[in-house]
Amino acid sequence: MSDTAQQQIVIVGAGHGGGAVAASLRQYGFKGGITVFGTEPIPPYQRPPLSKAWLKGEADAASLALRPPAFYDKADISLRLSTTVTAIDRTAKTVTTDSGETVGYDWLILATGARARRLPIPGMDLAGVLELRTAADADQLKAALGPGRKLAVVGGGYIGLEAAASALALGATATVIERESRVLARVASEALSHAYQTAHRKRGVTIELGAQVAALEGADGHVTGVRLGDGRLVPCDVALVGVGAVANVELARDAGIACDQGIIVDLAARTSDPAVFAVGDCTWRPLPHYGRDFRLESVPNALEQARQAAGAICGRAPAAPEVPWFWSDQFDLKLQIVGLPFGATHTVLRGDPATESFAVFHLADDNSLRAVEAVNMADAFMAGRLLISKGSQLAADKICDMSIAMKDLAQP
Ligand SMILES: Cc1cc2nc3c(=O)[nH]c(=O)nc-3n(C[C@H](O)[C@H](O)[C@H](O)COP(=O)(O)OP(=O)(O)OC[C@H]3O[C@@H](n4cnc5c(N)ncnc54)[C@H](O)[C@@H]3O)c2cc1C
Repeated sequence: MSDTAQQQIVIVGAGHGGGAVAASLRQYGFKGGITVFGTEPIPPYQRPPLSKAWLKGEADAASLALRPPAFYDKADISLRLSTTVTAIDRTAKTVTTDSGETVGYDWLILATGARARRLPIPGMDLAGVLELRTAADADQLKAALGPGRKLAVVGGGYIGLEAAASALALGATATVIERESRVLARVASEALSHAYQTAHRKRGVTIELGAQVAALEGADGHVTGVRLGDGRLVPCDVALVGVGAVANVELARDAGIACDQGIIVDLAARTSDPAVFAVGDCTWRPLPHYGRDFRLESVPNALEQARQAAGAICGRAPAAPEVPWFWSDQFDLKLQIVGLPFGATHTVLRGDPATESFAVFHLADDNSLRAVEAVNMADAFMAGRLLISKGSQLAADKICDMSIAMKDLAQP
């Protein structure tokens, strides 16, 4: 590694990716200055529990932290919280903050994440209409839930379904309102969607499918219900709008860095400017196992790209690309997804969804495995990860034969 002691790295965004890249830089031996700017007032923390264990009261605030507070001082990482970077000057190699400060860099790493998508409908500004992206959002949601409270969730995606499950655990009721004909329509197979609809309904969540949301209605400035396109009102004390996220690319785009639906990076997490890297939810990245680019919103992706960027800066040989993976916890259902269904033409089921332990295998025409959605079936997830990374082809009759152990499917 070249001598890095005189170099300065600025990281924009103190979330999962920003925190991880700072730690990886030190782990890989970077000796120079590291400054992390973050809009939020707290050190890097994990967002997944915000809709799960933390919302249910099963995890305390300290357990959300990515690293103990003392880590940053010890690692000589300067955390500049409650500070937003407002501009990048790539010629001068400086960033400017909202307090007007200008800070120079040798390497710049953008880890600006994504923000909740807003719906262009009346009532979005009523009190009690919430989104769930930050710890502050989760505080508000948790305070609004409890026995007898009514939660309406607009959007049947992962965050909305997790919040609905957590609301029930807190004694509240939950109605999930989804525009499409099934929940998780954008991100999961039909079999998985139907299993989750059944599981939620069985446990007491109301699900409205094919339901347009026309407006959020309120009294005295506070939400009282969600008006549907067909005129019906779903009454609520609190409405959570979970209709996806938009990458925070504006800072990069304004600085002339190439962007698509995220900041365009290569497999070293490098942007169109060789001195600027980007990691996490804000990136539009190559997926070598699928021969295309995509934007991922997951912790494993943020961690992989953090290692890619830190490794490139520290002159390490690039690691083999990982197969993307993701998880979601709802009630006692542990969903683990590995891979993406790009190029898949058919699915094969292993196990019976009625038992709430099953997996959906996504295969291409040549029977090569593209993705596995595993519910309470960890061995299918583990084997799927290996099989996808090896480009393995699988026989459908073997996948669905429960007498063949997953580890034997994984043997070529
Ligand atoms: C409720 C919830 C549940 C989730 N559950 C799962 C899960 O189960 N499994 C999973 O894999 N993933 C899950 N995710 C997604 C996962 O948390 C994200 O993929 C991950 O946090 C991405 O890290 P990031 O650093 O890219 O973005 P973030 O963690 O969002 O961090 C970005 C940070 O940058 C800051 N920022 C933005 N612009 C600026 C600026 N100009 N100046 C300074 N700071 C700035 C933002 O304020 C933010 O703090 C969940 C996300 C949420 C919100």
